[in-house]
Amino acid sequence: MAQGRKRASSILLFLALLVGGITPAASGEARKPEPVAKDARLAGDQARTRFIADLSKKVDVHVFALGDPYRVIVDLPEVNFQMPSGLGSEKRGLITGYRFGLFAPGKSRIVIDIGGPFLVDKSFVLDERPNQPARLVIDLVPADRKTFAAKLKETNGTPAPEAVAALPNPSRPAEVQEKPVVVLDPGHGGVDSGTKSSEGIPEKQVVLAFAKTLKQKLEAKGLYQVQLTREDDRFLALRERVAFAQKHHANLFVSIHADYSPKKATEVRGATVYTLSEEASDEEAKELAAKENFSDAIAGIELPSESDEAVANILIDLAQRETQGRSQTFAKSIVGQMGRSNLHHKAMKSAGFRVLKAPDVPSVLLELGYLSNPDDEKRLTSETWRTTIADKVNAAIDSYFKKRLAGPPF
Ligand code: ZN
Repeated sequence: MAQGRKRASSILLFLALLVGGITPAASGEARKPEPVAKDARLAGDQARTRFIADLSKKVDVHVFALGDPYRVIVDLPEVNFQMPSGLGSEKRGLITGYRFGLFAPGKSRIVIDIGGPFLVDKSFVLDERPNQPARLVIDLVPADRKTFAAKLKETNGTPAPEAVAALPNPSRPAEVQEKPVVVLDPGHGGVDSGTKSSEGIPEKQVVLAFAKTLKQKLEAKGLYQVQLTREDDRFLALRERVAFAQKHHANLFVSIHADYSPKKATEVRGATVYTLSEEASDEEAKELAAKENFSDAIAGIELPSESDEAVANILIDLAQRETQGRSQTFAKSIVGQMGRSNLHHKAMKSAGFRVLKAPDVPSVLLELGYLSNPDDEKRLTSETWRTTIADKVNAAIDSYFKKRLAGPPF
């Protein structure tokens, strides 16, 4: 972004604040400082590390590097930091930690510690969009000491080092391990019934009943925080489901559906677990994703434009690589627990399901079975079957988190 444009928008922001401050409606009321920084996270690896912060609105930032020790400094207008506690102790790729706070009156700062010489490859702030906060994104790549030093020379306006050192480390009561958050997402609802059995039983009803049983069973163990995206017969747009998972900081997202195959109704049966991929694993997976993605259109929701999607994809690539690995681990875990008799002959597939697109939440879509198959239909609507399968998914979730807890923090 050009320096001149930055300055111009800073002035606009300042004017907007000034005008806001003298509006009679705003006087006499303690106003919450804006913008609010709600969360931050790291993505990527040694080859490229990304720092992402969620902001309540777009702000101008000044990003620059410092050496000895290696740091990235992000200067922002005064920000109301409402970050989750313990944030900043993560280590990932080139980043060894970060901290944030008020730096001077009207000015906030984020300091990111880096393990070695590096370059700021890009930094930008994306506008907020419906259900998505504004985002500060900083991409770092490794460099040698000489390149780093040469780049540093170009930088001007760096602050006195002691001012940086004065920033406090965030308090970290981190040893208290919070319960993993599992978000269950019964598909469809309200105006969108999903598919229907020959008896006219709608998918939305079958999947809600299953999700409620599974929630009960998971909660009974006291190991997880469990949230349902919907508890009744209401419509939710696909992006609202994704946003719900992100808002609740889900560690796992399970979208629950039932399928329908008009061809060979008596042959096609059993459960299938889907993960996200750009290329569908086969033609059926592709058709199914198109069908499930059509949910928003059924409810008359405008689909995001191609360009919106393209912007979103910039953010998705890095974080998603790792998230996809986790999603697959979980998908395997479900297949392992379900057993052949409950599964479709090809039980793990992938395609471009919109509802699985949270870049930071491991997500699977579980098709419980086929409402078009008379045997599956009987099972899907029976409480005994629901209980049995809920137990199996429950065990799969246990197994997934056991592996996760043994590894690096999630
Ligand atoms: Zn569905």
